[in-house]
Amino acid sequence: MSIKQNLEQIKSDIPSHVKLVAVSKQQPISSIQQAYDQGQRVFGENRHKELIDKHTTLPNDIEWHFIGSLQRSNVKHVVPYVSMIHSVDSDKLLDEINRIAAKQGKVIDVLFEVHLAQEETKSGWDSDSLIKYIASKQDRAYAYIRVRGLMCMASNCDDQNIIKEEFTAIKELFNLIKHNYYRDISWFNTISAGMSGDYMMAIECGSNMIRVGSSIFK
Ligand SMILES: *Cc1c(COP(=O)(O)O)cnc(C)c1O
Repeated sequence: MSIKQNLEQIKSDIPSHVKLVAVSKQQPISSIQQAYDQGQRVFGENRHKELIDKHTTLPNDIEWHFIGSLQRSNVKHVVPYVSMIHSVDSDKLLDEINRIAAKQGKVIDVLFEVHLAQEETKSGWDSDSLIKYIASKQDRAYAYIRVRGLMCMASNCDDQNIIKEEFTAIKELFNLIKHNYYRDISWFNTISAGMSGDYMMAIECGSNMIRVGSSIFK
């Protein structure tokens, strides 16, 4: 199947309120251009060098999202090029994102990456420390950051029940945080969950932003 057919298939499968981030990491410019020509405008990258190369070469109206783990020292190489960072896993990282965004005079959208999967290798906040952190209201002090919601990656396993539990857990955590801390903040409205193998399940459980790579570019 072609990139065009893959995109058409995915778009017909997902409801219109779900935003599709086409994960273009490791893909050549020509493939991204093909997706762009089909109307896709949101792309996700996970390495800053690749992001900058592609940002420079491809059309200006692409909305780039950063989805990979991000070191503080690299924030300055990412913030100028993206509208959203999905992978915020520490308060120190928020400090640095805000500092760089302030320099640029740019407000940047972020998601808190939550660690739900059983695997130790996955990064992100555990639910308790995230709630504790948000309760301290520190993120409200960041003039150049808009907290949009949560992001997670499910366990890399075949057990649909485990995956469903994890996606349900992120929806519940989102609801709790929304209710207690962001009730009046209209833009706290995003759950980024679901990849090629599990996006339909993620949407069923409440995700409204999916990050799909291999199902588009295979
Ligand atoms: C690579 C990647 C994806 C896309 O994965 P596919 O299985 O290729 O759809 C989504 N999210 C993150 C954080 C990734 O690194």
